[in-house]
Amino acid sequence: MKYYSTNNADYKVDLKEAVIKGLAPDQGLYMPEKIPVLPADFFDRLPGLSFREMGYEIIGSLFSDDLSQQQINSLVDHTLTFDAPLVQVEEGVYSLELFHGPTLAFKDFGARFCSKLMSMLQDKRDLKVLVATSGDTGSAVANGFFGVDGVEVIILYPSGKVSKLQEKQFTTLGGNIRAIEVAGVFDDCQKMVKQAFLDPDLNSKMLLTSANSINIARWIPQCLYYFYAYSRLPKKERELVFSVPSGNFGNLAAGILAERMGLPISYFVAATNINKVVPDYLQGENFMAKPSLQTISNSMDVGNPSNFYRLLALFGNDESQLKEKVKGYFYTDDMTRQAMLKVKNQTGYTMDPHGAVAYLGLKDFMGAQPAPCTGIFLETAHPGKFRNVVEDTLSIRLDLPDRLQAFMEKEKKVDKMENDYLEFKKYLLSI
Ligand SMILES: *Cc1c(COP(=O)(O)O)cnc(C)c1O
Repeated sequence: MKYYSTNNADYKVDLKEAVIKGLAPDQGLYMPEKIPVLPADFFDRLPGLSFREMGYEIIGSLFSDDLSQQQINSLVDHTLTFDAPLVQVEEGVYSLELFHGPTLAFKDFGARFCSKLMSMLQDKRDLKVLVATSGDTGSAVANGFFGVDGVEVIILYPSGKVSKLQEKQFTTLGGNIRAIEVAGVFDDCQKMVKQAFLDPDLNSKMLLTSANSINIARWIPQCLYYFYAYSRLPKKERELVFSVPSGNFGNLAAGILAERMGLPISYFVAATNINKVVPDYLQGENFMAKPSLQTISNSMDVGNPSNFYRLLALFGNDESQLKEKVKGYFYTDDMTRQAMLKVKNQTGYTMDPHGAVAYLGLKDFMGAQPAPCTGIFLETAHPGKFRNVVEDTLSIRLDLPDRLQAFMEKEKKVDKMENDYLEFKKYLLSI
């Protein structure tokens, strides 16, 4: 299988280059040149398969040219170490809980798959993954790569600018995860990482890569849980709609990938907070990046969604097909809090702010349909991850999940550094 750039369909690379480089030289996103359609009998067998068993077949259909079935199975096993339960919230409305991984957010799926695939594709020389983080990416990547052979992760983060809990999640692991506390802000960290990638001297001496969210190795595995959710639905005769709380739109694009592979999904809801460039586009406006606005669903505060061109590519760049299948909705923080409260009071179910945005989009879409359909919204984060907002909105106290509590008790191990590229370079050459 080759992967082409969304900026130039004639520019194609193999799996290894797409994964190690991440982004095409023309800044396009890589896409598989063919999307395999799974056979009808696979869908008949789905309810009887475990999450991993379906993963072997789905990932196999995409990667079997490049990896052995044994490698494919070990990739899936490394990724799916936790469940994604489908929980009924109301009649015909389900929450797909994607937050049962080590850092309590759905990004664990992509980070775990990415780490294992990178380790399989790198040869001889150790691969060094450089990450600049303001919190979330660092913890998902660190936990996903922890203990993976032949890959070392170096995380740069701004001193004093990351929450204690997030800092603990990537500074206490040790092993192949190194954390550097930079005397500066996030942009300084980002700049040092970018400069390292552009430094020919450094790149001639070591193999450097990033675990950026647009990497196909983080993007593709996100299609798996759409199949799993479908397989666990008790009744399948109604039309099915998925509502995806979106920021960079990787998760939604992965859902569309699953649909293109044959999963019978009638519609998608692209649900956002007031960072609504994609809902605006779906309503007929031109796609236009805007500065991002701060909200309580802050993992979706994205003004220039990086996977937008993947959405189009999945429909052969036919905008009318995209607009037919994907409906956009957006919500303010007030609406989000009200939904959290209403659902808690009426059903007892606790939603985090991101899941609540998706719930709202799902309800509005379903309410406008002529016939009843089945709806699934993606719960992308554990409510405890957004503890202050959830406790304040619902007037309850949440216990920190044991997995997070355990991080708080471990000792932080970091290397401190000035905001100085040459110091960073010397450090990289010394490890
Ligand atoms: C990253 C993130 C999102 C947005 O996902 P995209 O794939 O960027 O659209 C939504 N919810 C949570 C909790 C996230 O961490």
